[in-house]
Amino acid sequence: MSIVTYIGLGSNLGDSLQIMAEAVHKLAALGAVKTSKLYQSPPMGPQDQPNYLNAVVQLTTDLAPLALLDELQRFEQESGRVRLRHWGERTLDLDLLIYGQEQIQNERLTVPHAGVMERDFVLIPLLDLDAGLQLKGQLLKDLPILEHPALDVLATGNWAKI
Ligand code: ATP
Ligand code: MG
Ligand code: MG
Repeated sequence: MSIVTYIGLGSNLGDSLQIMAEAVHKLAALGAVKTSKLYQSPPMGPQDQPNYLNAVVQLTTDLAPLALLDELQRFEQESGRVRLRHWGERTLDLDLLIYGQEQIQNERLTVPHAGVMERDFVLIPLLDLDAGLQLKGQLLKDLPILEHPALDVLATGNWAKI
């Protein structure tokens, strides 16, 4: 059965736009995709690293959560991701933000992703895709963090050239 999922994309190493566009193409092999606008945001964690490109993809897929995570981690590896330091620079981060209505908690997966409600660079692209999204009974568009976002829109159109 097809489930509507949301994947957060981030990159601040290498040719980030190319890497993110390739990730959208790989995700499109797993189901139907829609992409948010493309954003630039200041780094979280260590500040001595480049700004990030961020976006969210809505993926409607038949894959089970852990099978989807396997694919996301494979795509991260294929981009050449190396773990340097916690929340440090990376070629590609793919986080499973939302998987239908499911709440998942195991050694590999927390869904909804633990950072969703606190990260403007996740919330704003999520709202591009569905302005009525709710988590835990909270309309995401009403969260106070959205009053002073720290990110810039880089592209509104079909930046991944699907
Ligand atoms: P954050 O998760 O705070 O955004 P990060 O993306 O830098 O940090 P990673 O190094 O990409 O963290 O992932 C660390 C681990 O997080 C992975 O090994 C994965 O098993 C686990 N994880 C737990 N929940 C999720 C999720 N919803 N999506 C992706 N990975 C998850
Ligand atoms: Mg992350
Ligand atoms: Mg991650």
